[in-house]
Amino acid sequence: MKRILVTGGAGFLGSHLCDKLLAEGNEVLCVDNFYTGRKSNIHHLMDNKNFEFLRHDITFPLYAEVDEIYNLACPASPVHYQFDPVQTTKTSVLGAINMLGLAKRLKIKILQASTSEVYGDPEVHPQPESYKGSVSTTGIRACYDEGKRCAETLFFDYHRQHGVDIKVMRIFNTYGPRMNPNDGRVVSNFIVQALKGEDITIFGDGSQTRSFCYVDDNIEGMYSLMNSRDGFTGPVNIGNPGEFTMLQLAELVIKMTGSTSKMRFSPLPQDDPLQRQPVIDLAKKELGWEPKVDLTSGLEKTIFYFRELID
Ligand code: NAD
Ligand code: UDP
Ligand code: UDP
Repeated sequence: MKRILVTGGAGFLGSHLCDKLLAEGNEVLCVDNFYTGRKSNIHHLMDNKNFEFLRHDITFPLYAEVDEIYNLACPASPVHYQFDPVQTTKTSVLGAINMLGLAKRLKIKILQASTSEVYGDPEVHPQPESYKGSVSTTGIRACYDEGKRCAETLFFDYHRQHGVDIKVMRIFNTYGPRMNPNDGRVVSNFIVQALKGEDITIFGDGSQTRSFCYVDDNIEGMYSLMNSRDGFTGPVNIGNPGEFTMLQLAELVIKMTGSTSKMRFSPLPQDDPLQRQPVIDLAKKELGWEPKVDLTSGLEKTIFYFRELID
């Protein structure tokens, strides 16, 4: 039995990861400051004797005794990471330093939840791991994009300089149950708006694309990466290559919810990437991983979750 630290464990992905690690027979120490996470995401785990929760901000040092670290703490929705951009960069950079310091002291493996945002508004399409990205250092998304890029740099420098065993995962847009209804990301926004009969808010003309991965596939990929062969550090893309425009997503959500909502268009936010699709050959080769859940099946489960929540 391992004792595993999950930072950001009360968030959307973190809470699903806690479920998975407990189901595999581990002890979990979940650390979160509830910046975007919620108690309700981990409520069902509170009576589990193998689960422990600590309210803590990872920009401050943490001294704990664990066997492995999954570093997920960081707001992921543009609305939330832009609300307090300085804190967002601190969480990515100081948080990475503290968690890497912890991994270094304990001589343990640490996985970083990085992001497709390291590719910025990509000039290469689809995006392989070798693409170095096109990111603004000064725009409104930079607090997140550059914070995550610096965190990757820290991971590779702790690896080279201190021999820390690292695994770096570049997550592409992931959705599913336990997203916060006020999260602000496109899948939760469209579903909640459709279920409430409110206007569907399309930013820009809706021709920009994203590739959406269902949460269960993401967690399988994350777990496989942590348990991949010694010496395999990544970075590795984990996402679903199915690429859709925001208009296609809106139409699908309206159809699947049977909603009467209309689309309302507003300007595209600054630096909003026009296209995004992962190349997942490396994940297939190294992890034997590929996504199994298509967009319609994943949306079905997510719509069911939000319908219950709203009712
Ligand atoms: P989320 O906002 O639901 O979860 C993030 C969690 O981190 C929240 O529970 C929040 O309270 C916690 N947190 C934030 N700052 C913290 C701090 N300083 N100290 C302790 N806890 C803190 O987002 P998510 O979708 O679950 O994302 C999890 C991770 O995956 C993030 O690092 C995110 O950047 C990355 N990621 C997610 C996606 C996606 O599509 N879901 C895509 C790319 C990368
Ligand atoms: N750190 C931590 N927990 C530990 C060990 C280190 O939070 O168990 C933090 C500590 O605050 C330190 C940071 O991680 O500032 C980086 O650690 P490292 O050993 O690399 O640096 P140093 O201690 O030399 O500053
Ligand atoms: N988006 C939208 N309406 C919304 C929320 C988002 O049209 O209510 C667009 C957004 O401009 C972006 C895409 O959907 O082009 C994905 O946005 P999200 O915030 O989910 O993630 P990210 O931009 O970080 O990929």
